[in-house]
Amino acid sequence: MHFQWYPGHMTKARRMMQENIKLIDLIIELVDARVPLGSRNPDIDELGKNKARLILLNKSDLAEERLNDEWIEYFKEKGYSAVKVNSKKGGGMNQIRAAIQEACKEKTERDRKRGILNRPVRAMVVGIPNVGKSTFINSLAGKACTKTGNKPGVTKGKQWIRLNKNVELLDTPGILWPKFEDQEVGKKLAFIGSIKDEILQTEELSTELIKFLNAKYPGVLEEKYSIEHSEDGYECLASIAKSRHCVVRGSELDTEKAAAILLDDFRSGKLGRISLERP
Ligand code: GDP
Repeated sequence: MHFQWYPGHMTKARRMMQENIKLIDLIIELVDARVPLGSRNPDIDELGKNKARLILLNKSDLAEERLNDEWIEYFKEKGYSAVKVNSKKGGGMNQIRAAIQEACKEKTERDRKRGILNRPVRAMVVGIPNVGKSTFINSLAGKACTKTGNKPGVTKGKQWIRLNKNVELLDTPGILWPKFEDQEVGKKLAFIGSIKDEILQTEELSTELIKFLNAKYPGVLEEKYSIEHSEDGYECLASIAKSRHCVVRGSELDTEKAAAILLDDFRSGKLGRISLERP
């Protein structure tokens, strides 16, 4: 199995992001807490140089808490502001607002020295597909927000969401493409659903996930599906199919369906909190 991304598809997204980045002060970079490094695109460093950066470990509810904290430390040591979030639940958004201010401290200070007071910080959210950009924007903006509409001097059609008197957020996120040379990383991105399943072999992918879980989270599969332990991925998949009554043509085990169930259970956290990368 070979994981790749379509560069052609991303040319337009990249161009749009280059345009939008000119308008902002702060990049809010969403990464997946389960794969914090693999779900980043290092090109953002070049695209967003001279901009403040806040890294959010999104979907932190799906990753191990202890490792989330280790990752936060990791990014802080690299000099980034970093916070863990659960955009779906929407908790902790006040902390995010504070983190936005904190990440822009230098800019605000520079403004102040130049006599520019109360110019709001402008921010935009970026991240790879499915990392939770839209969910995060909705959660942060909430119901109370007011769209500021088009402004003179701003590219036509751009909408800014006013979060408070100090911060405005571009309502469309920047889409980064997954970028990896290492196929192991590609595999992890496929596990979390950042590479479209249509181009993947779900059965093969799920046997890879089984291999990972057996190694790093022993017992999880056995307990979840009430199956015997097996080191063999396909055998394990067949057991899941049996346990979940996935059959085709009367009695044949439907391992493809079992694979879809397994991937879905993993992605939605039903196998528990699982981190795919460790700092
Ligand atoms: P986008 O492609 O980056 O805009 O991603 P979406 O906002 O569409 O989110 C992709 C999926 O992840 C959706 O099913 C969301 O409900 C889910 N999601 C987003 N944030 C979180 C989170 O913090 N925790 C969990 N468990 N799911 C999330």
